[in-house]
Amino acid sequence: MKAKETKLCKNKNCQKPLPEDYKHKYCESCRNKRFDKIKDGTKVGLSLVALFVGGVGLIAKGISENID
Ligand SMILES: [Zn+2]
Repeated sequence: MKAKETKLCKNKNCQKPLPEDYKHKYCESCRNKRFDKIKDGTKVGLSLVALFVGGVGLIAKGISENID
């Protein structure tokens, strides 16, 4: 029997064996997780910007109200 090189998912916490003709380095579920993370990261980044802008606006408003 010939030893076949089994490709494993590159995720160190996963290491799931991948099908021989699989084109990706990560298994399907890890790929989905990765994309979710990227999407979440964008969302977090956008909400941080929104928070920052909103916070600065509130602070500016508070300062001007205190001055009045
Ligand atoms: Zn995986």
